[in-house]
Amino acid sequence: MIASYMATAQPVYYFGWQGGEPTLMGLEFFLKVTELQKKYGRRGVAVSNGLQTNATLIDDEMAAHFSKYRFLVGVSIDGPGEIHDRYRVHSAGRGSHADVLRGIDCLKRHNVEFNALVLVSSANVTRAKELYHYLRDLGIYYHQYIPCVEFDNNGQPLIFTISAKQWGDFLCDIFDEWIKWDTRRVSIRWFDSIISYLVEGRFTVCQMEQNCCQYFLIEYNGDIYPCDFFVRPELKVGNIWDASWPELLQSQIYSDFGAQKAQWHKECDNCEDLPYCSGDCLKHRLFHGTKHPRQLSWLCHGYKRFFQRALPGLRNLADTIKKERFEARMQGGRLDSSSKIGRNEPCPCGSGSKYKKCCGRLTH
Ligand code: SF4
Ligand code: SF4
Repeated sequence: MIASYMATAQPVYYFGWQGGEPTLMGLEFFLKVTELQKKYGRRGVAVSNGLQTNATLIDDEMAAHFSKYRFLVGVSIDGPGEIHDRYRVHSAGRGSHADVLRGIDCLKRHNVEFNALVLVSSANVTRAKELYHYLRDLGIYYHQYIPCVEFDNNGQPLIFTISAKQWGDFLCDIFDEWIKWDTRRVSIRWFDSIISYLVEGRFTVCQMEQNCCQYFLIEYNGDIYPCDFFVRPELKVGNIWDASWPELLQSQIYSDFGAQKAQWHKECDNCEDLPYCSGDCLKHRLFHGTKHPRQLSWLCHGYKRFFQRALPGLRNLADTIKKERFEARMQGGRLDSSSKIGRNEPCPCGSGSKYKKCCGRLTH
């Protein structure tokens, strides 16, 4: 997989290691990953490794390796112990929170860049402000909040699924805390994506895009699917052993899947939030009710409430950032950390390297 991907021409080679739990592969696996990336990467190319983990198996050796190769690690943590341990338990039933904190300490000790992924479920959806401050107090300044929306085979919501109203209230509560104190200190992935769109015309999360041809999900046996929520036999795009990248990109299955994103509900056509929502993730449209892409998202009304509350503030912030960038360009100076270029976005100097690893100078 690494050899064939790195034989294609890309500005940056992005690898996202997810499971299940990817650290179950052990340090040996990740030593081999970076060895192969060095072997197959042409001189000077930029490689980005992201890893999503529950952090319970991270030890000093593994953290040192992630630090050395600047992996960006996402740690799943759903809040303080009494919240986190409600659903995130070891196979024996014991809560995993204490082990997650041990893993986080390890990452901190080795200066590994990491962010928190919070699954927003029925266990924590009413406690947004508490969650936000909990993460901040732990010294975590990059937050991802993911709505838990799961259905049974009959399309009925499972017990941990949240409602649209709950999701809207949650996002508004987080936004209210963030906008008051932390716009230049805490990065919320969802808000950053909207700001990126307002400033640079591109989103950084796939849910907001109009097409779901965003990446390939590669399973342990090499089978390839269009999205990690849609690993289904009928959506298998190919296998890494016998499919070339051009073939994969041109796959009819892949393009048909991606096109469903823009086949949204008729209410979306007249929705003023459509430019930011694009009908929402297919997962929230295809797994319940009629199971058709033209069905309204399960979370629609929550998003509407959030956009109504947050867009004016986000637009103001975007205008300020544009002004700062303009002034910096006039002065030929380096952008400071408050100018809100994402850490993994290309440096404005045009080098092709990530902002965090480069000079941050604007080109003239
Ligand atoms: S289905 Fe959802 S998660 Fe998958 S690519 Fe589309 S928007 Fe992204
Ligand atoms: S907020 Fe609702 S109606 Fe508007 S684009 Fe999103 S899903 Fe469609």
